[in-house]
Amino acid sequence: MKSASLINLSDKSIFIVGAGWSGLACAVTLVQAGHKVCLLESARQAGGRARSISSKNSHTMHLPGLKLDNGQHIMLGAYYFTQEIFKTLGLKESNILQRHPLELKLFSAAEDSIHLKASSLLPAPLHLLAAFLTMQGLNLKDRLKVIKMALMLSMSGYRLKKDISVEQLLAQHQQTKILIKALWEPLCLATLNTPIHYASAQVFLNVLKDSFNSSKHNSDCLFFKQDLSQTFCLPAIRFIKNHNSEVKCAEKVLDIQIRHSGVNKNSSEFYIQTGHHFYQCNQLILATPPHISKKLIDQSLLIGKKSSFNFFYEPIVTIYIQYPSEIKLPQIMVGFFSSSSEHTSQWAIDRSLTGQNGLIAVVISGSGKHMQLSSSQLVHAIHQELSLVISHLPDFHEYKIIKEKRATFRCHVDIESQRPGTITTVSGLYLAGDYTDTGYPATLEGAIKSGVMAARQIIRQK
Ligand SMILES: Cc1cc2nc3c(=O)[nH]c(=O)nc-3n(C[C@H](O)[C@H](O)[C@H](O)COP(=O)(O)OP(=O)(O)OC[C@H]3O[C@@H](n4cnc5c(N)ncnc54)[C@H](O)[C@@H]3O)c2cc1C
Repeated sequence: MKSASLINLSDKSIFIVGAGWSGLACAVTLVQAGHKVCLLESARQAGGRARSISSKNSHTMHLPGLKLDNGQHIMLGAYYFTQEIFKTLGLKESNILQRHPLELKLFSAAEDSIHLKASSLLPAPLHLLAAFLTMQGLNLKDRLKVIKMALMLSMSGYRLKKDISVEQLLAQHQQTKILIKALWEPLCLATLNTPIHYASAQVFLNVLKDSFNSSKHNSDCLFFKQDLSQTFCLPAIRFIKNHNSEVKCAEKVLDIQIRHSGVNKNSSEFYIQTGHHFYQCNQLILATPPHISKKLIDQSLLIGKKSSFNFFYEPIVTIYIQYPSEIKLPQIMVGFFSSSSEHTSQWAIDRSLTGQNGLIAVVISGSGKHMQLSSSQLVHAIHQELSLVISHLPDFHEYKIIKEKRATFRCHVDIESQRPGTITTVSGLYLAGDYTDTGYPATLEGAIKSGVMAARQIIRQK
């Protein structure tokens, strides 16, 4: 081991590795319950895959002071753990989020646009059944097929006896090509970031169940009014520090050694090595992505006899494209589809909500031909598609493309059986992160829920 100083030998801090939303949520929950925490993060800023970046680092976009996120993020009304953490931090929803009842408008170069709007008058799930019945751009036969499928899924409790792909599920429920292309495929990519032919139908149903049932507000879309670091990461760090705890950025964990202690060897001591320090603790939460967690600690210790800790990843590309400030989308979010030809854009979000007038964020989930395009080809394809939605669209000024190759874990068929829980085989060692067994795909809600669950395991032992 390199020379590094040994610190914190005597204090009783709980250590968390990784200050993404799962690690931050875990720390907030622990300090609120009176624990002392030390959070170690390899990057120079917290937030992980949901953080802000400054446009001044961009080669293509030079708007002074403009804050962008590393990817456009949206929340759903059903994200209860996330909303609860925001409350703990004293964040008022109306200050940080704009809530819209579900309204999907999808455009196509060759077909009629699709418009689905949840009723604000009816309770769940009637608010969505009415939306399907009145959906514009589809014939009555297709709309009835969607309603029949929704009713059958509801009767089955949104549970499958055996997981299948979303594509197989849609075939079982006789969904037509236009329904798949214009409704289900965009929804599956937006929620699971995984193509329908291998996406897990069970995880898709988990999301549908939460969003479509209980309260009509569960299906609301929540848009951030500020960048992600301003919204959550910075308030979370302030909260943790105000509770006698620490967040150390640029402190990459290189190695973790475990020693078993106690009368029956039933407690553990963890020795954590970073580039600068050694730390020792008795309780440790790994809130790192799975490929990092298994580098730091042998996977057999993390998951016992469970056969696999192999996660694959799917990319997300976000293209920020700046037009003159008066340019707006017809509504805050629009989608794109085609049942016959290729198209590149999937969703476009108007950033005027964050005070960035004329800025549009276009999101492309999953891998595809767009990954092979040059920046200039990609942005021109997107500009072309945006002109379907905005008439007399002028030339754009600047753009920035962010490709996150490991944006989310691949939510493939049977993924549920492979996701580890919070508790490991080592006493005092816990896992958090969107990939753990939360029932959710890779989302802010999954990350926050996993962090809160890990914290609760420790709090319960008090
Ligand atoms: C482009 C994009 C768009 C997305 N859109 C949405 C959306 O619209 N809605 C939604 O709900 N979700 C969305 N997501 C998913 C969401 O961002 C993630 O699920 C969530 O941020 C994962 O948080 P996490 O804490 O589990 O993991 P991470 O964010 O990956 O956090 C892990 C942390 O560990 C740190 N780390 C790694 N190695 C070490 C080490 N050796 N030592 C110390 N620290 C280490 C990392 O730097 C990182 O900060 C999107 C993700 C991306 C990338």
